[in-house]
Amino acid sequence: MADRGDGSRHRASYVIGADGANSLVRRRFTAPFRRDQLSIATGFFAHGVCSDEIVIELTPKPPGYIWSFPRPGHLAIGICAQADAGIGAAALRDRTRDWIARTRIAEGAALEPYSWPILR
Ligand SMILES: Cc1cc2nc3c(=O)[nH]c(=O)nc-3n(C[C@H](O)[C@H](O)[C@H](O)COP(=O)(O)OP(=O)(O)OC[C@H]3O[C@@H](n4cnc5c(N)ncnc54)[C@H](O)[C@@H]3O)c2cc1C
Repeated sequence: MADRGDGSRHRASYVIGADGANSLVRRRFTAPFRRDQLSIATGFFAHGVCSDEIVIELTPKPPGYIWSFPRPGHLAIGICAQADAGIGAAALRDRTRDWIARTRIAEGAALEPYSWPILR
């Protein structure tokens, strides 16, 4: 039996949650995903810079990669690591910022930070 949010109740044999890594369905019916089930993706949207190149650099620590994906009007630049890898979103974003400075891939861009959890 589930509360539908409007005060009414609904009975179903199955509930399929397709609402992502922060799943409300999962939190409501079981438990949130644990950190060891999640990765963190974080970085910057670099507004005002365009490219026709996808750039990827593999990183050993934490194991993963930094990417720059071109989008209309901006680059989506980021890094991903397991959430329990011992490095937080702020430190990962600093690495992305350092990579942007070193590669000069987004010179003059306005950097808009982002972070998302991803299921492993
Ligand atoms: C920066 C980044 C890069 C990625 N790169 C890759 C990649 O290269 N390869 C790969 O395989 N995967 C990649 N992923 C992961 C991939 O995006 C996810 O694994 C995939 O989108 C998960 O699909 P999903 O349907 O489970 O959830 P989502 O795509 O997150 O969809 C969930 C949906 O539920 C909706 N929703 C959430 N809560 C509610 C609510 N309370 N009420 C109503 N609607 C709600 C959301 O609006 C959304 O539309 C990447 C993710 C990120 C963030």
